[in-house]
Amino acid sequence: MQADHLDVLIVGAGISGIGAAYHLQTAFPKKTYAILEGRESLGGTWDLFRYPGIRSDSDMYTLGYSFRPWREAKAIADGPSILGYVRDTAEAYGIDKKIRYRHLVQKATWSSKDARWTIEGLPAFGLGLGLSTGPAAAALLGSAERLEYTLVGDTVNLSQRLQQLASAGETVLSEATVQSLTERIDAVRLPPQLVKGRDTPIIAYKITGTASQPVAVPAAQGGLSAGLGGAAIEGETS
Ligand SMILES: Cc1cc2nc3c(=O)[nH]c(=O)nc-3n(C[C@H](O)[C@H](O)[C@H](O)COP(=O)(O)OP(=O)(O)OC[C@H]3O[C@@H](n4cnc5c(N)ncnc54)[C@H](O)[C@@H]3O)c2cc1C
Repeated sequence: MQADHLDVLIVGAGISGIGAAYHLQTAFPKKTYAILEGRESLGGTWDLFRYPGIRSDSDMYTLGYSFRPWREAKAIADGPSILGYVRDTAEAYGIDKKIRYRHLVQKATWSSKDARWTIEGLPAFGLGLGLSTGPAAAALLGSAERLEYTLVGDTVNLSQRLQQLASAGETVLSEATVQSLTERIDAVRLPPQLVKGRDTPIIAYKITGTASQPVAVPAAQGGLSAGLGGAAIEGETS
């Protein structure tokens, strides 16, 4: 594989990496650099966590960039606002074009002879979650030191089929799971899917977000506002 040579590498396109890039390109405009980001998007913490109510702990006048002060009225900001602020900053200074997504740094080796770091990575991969609700048999094997368990049954098989429908970062729910939910989420109903081991197509739903203010989307448009058993989902995803 051919190596790419740059003056500076920044690892991570979170609020710190974007800030570092700004200061680097401002102080040393002739230096070449890239930001290596393991995920598919920038923002770090503020892109990763999407749970309702996520917000900063400290005031954004302090957490924000000195070179691009926080102008919103709310000092304690919600997650999406902070993510928007980081994204806008990256775009405003052309930093977004320096980011190489899906570049997960695994190893950095220094060569004194060449006075150079060599960075190696592995291809990043994303996980999708399939979640079904129903009877299953659980078996535990272990001792006081170690415990392992497995679940068997049609509910488990269905979870696996649903997982196959989930792309990286997505959660796909069975119809029974959607019906069992007590809080509300935004989800779209996927086209009926014929999957291994079933004679009839299954109905599955892909979560598009949690709705703090539920909005009912007509089923005819392929949308759904359904209840979400918060603990069940959080337990599965955390
Ligand atoms: C709910 C919540 C509230 C918070 N409130 C505050 C607050 O008010 N004030 C405060 O100071 N802090 C707060 N924090 C902490 C917050 O995470 C940091 O302030 C800040 O967002 C960290 O930014 P960062 O860029 O350093 O790291 P991150 O946001 O974690 O970003 C790191 C980035 O690097 C990438 N990365 C990591 N390892 C690799 C690798 N090996 N290769 C490639 N890419 C990699 C990650 O994918 C990620 O995009 C809060 C955190 C949470 C969860």
